[in-house]
Amino acid sequence: MVEKYYIEKAIKLIKESRKTFVLTGAGVSTESGIPDFRSPQTGLWEKVDPMEALSTTVLYNNPRKFYKEGFKMLLGMTGAEPNKAHLALAEMERKGYIKGIVTQNIDNLHQKAGSKYVLEVHGNTREGSCLNCKNKVKLDVINNKVNKGEIPPRCDACGGILRPDVVFFGDMLPEDFSIAQEEVGTSDLLIVVGSSLVVSPVNYLPQLVKKLIIINIGSTPFDRRADLCIQGKAGEVLDEILKGLDKE
Ligand SMILES: [Zn+2]
Repeated sequence: MVEKYYIEKAIKLIKESRKTFVLTGAGVSTESGIPDFRSPQTGLWEKVDPMEALSTTVLYNNPRKFYKEGFKMLLGMTGAEPNKAHLALAEMERKGYIKGIVTQNIDNLHQKAGSKYVLEVHGNTREGSCLNCKNKVKLDVINNKVNKGEIPPRCDACGGILRPDVVFFGDMLPEDFSIAQEEVGTSDLLIVVGSSLVVSPVNYLPQLVKKLIIINIGSTPFDRRADLCIQGKAGEVLDEILKGLDKE
């Protein structure tokens, strides 16, 4: 149970803000059963370090390894369902309390929950593209090819290697990140949820905004700079904030 004082302070900051943006990280999706992408100690990825196989170096130099070791972990996310945190954020957008979401997550759960304006700074698991001709395909197309043993999967148009549109180590930042900078830079308030703010490039965003709320289990390098830090589970905290906003 989060102390009432913190919830009330969060509500006050949101009410006072002309424009509020939200930044979400892995902590928002762990309650949907998706392990933190970058925590190799979480059971699922004990045997292989997903980030090792999921990098541009491996994709370009050893696409077989990329598809045999890394790719399946991305697909593990496509069956998950949104939790209380995703639903509360979608409701907050619908009611005009927040303008949109910048997310580090690639699990599509904000959209599944009904959020409309979502900037995906680490890409997504809906689509892929050809390394050669940039032709776009649904991720299912890549998945079907892999399941049929076509490793690496190839573009029907030009024969180039297909890749998921997830941002890996070594990739350039997607256009969504430029838009995120613009949106956060013109916001009064940023609410960080479930991110420890250590992963680049998102750790840059809290520096762009006047007021900052951090909702996270564990501390972040920005706690001292924040106007309010709430230690707690994303779903519970957001639910209480939403109820409080509705009451007034
Ligand atoms: Zn192609």
